[in-house]
Amino acid sequence: MIDVHAHLTDPSFKDLPEVLRRARAAGVKKIIMSITDPAEFVRAREVLSMDPGYLYLTAGFDPTVLLEEKYNQFKELLRLGDIVGIGEVGLDHFYVRDHSQRVLQEAFFRSSIRLAIERDLPLVVHSRSAGHDALEVLYSEGAERVLMHAFDGKSGDALSATKRGFFFSIPTSVVHSEQKQKLARLLPLGSLMLETDSPVLTPVRGERNEPANLILGARKIAEIKHVKVEEVVRVTVANAERFFRL
Ligand SMILES: [Zn+2]
Repeated sequence: MIDVHAHLTDPSFKDLPEVLRRARAAGVKKIIMSITDPAEFVRAREVLSMDPGYLYLTAGFDPTVLLEEKYNQFKELLRLGDIVGIGEVGLDHFYVRDHSQRVLQEAFFRSSIRLAIERDLPLVVHSRSAGHDALEVLYSEGAERVLMHAFDGKSGDALSATKRGFFFSIPTSVVHSEQKQKLARLLPLGSLMLETDSPVLTPVRGERNEPANLILGARKIAEIKHVKVEEVVRVTVANAERFFRL
């Protein structure tokens, strides 16, 4: 399996060697880390060097922190290479309610989409309480290599997006989240990837999430789609490798 979205630079991961060992033992063959603050890049590089060829990185910025300075730092990172994609970037209407702040958020999102297209990098998109709006922005910018992570919008909107070639990563919270189960049921396996969003979106309430839990998400998707778990693994790995060009 490939965990396409994990925040391994999170301070809760003080036991990273064990976390990576458990991930391997659970059948995770690659992990794509995501940073949401350019300041995490130094730590991300340290983590990457712990297991090159196993760990990869996408770099973005938190859509709730609307600072020009952060955005500029993020652009600087893109010059340094070492990343397989841009993200997470996107819209967050759960935390950002003010109209003028939302306008600014969309402007940052649009310019990061343009950067991704310009540099031929895939986009990993955060869209909390803004699924429909985020998709509309992506369509209007002509984005094609898009992975919607932990999508909390309507399954119908997601289905239309898969028809344009967008991918959706189903988080391990699919074990208990009805909305994620609905998404997994409706979307074709050929448009799905697996993620943990570690340390959050845990399948086991109250516990820190980690990449080894990916198997729980894979099993749930297999159950929902009435296919073997091996089939879920085979297709989602192929999707991730092709999408990120790993
Ligand atoms: Zn995330």
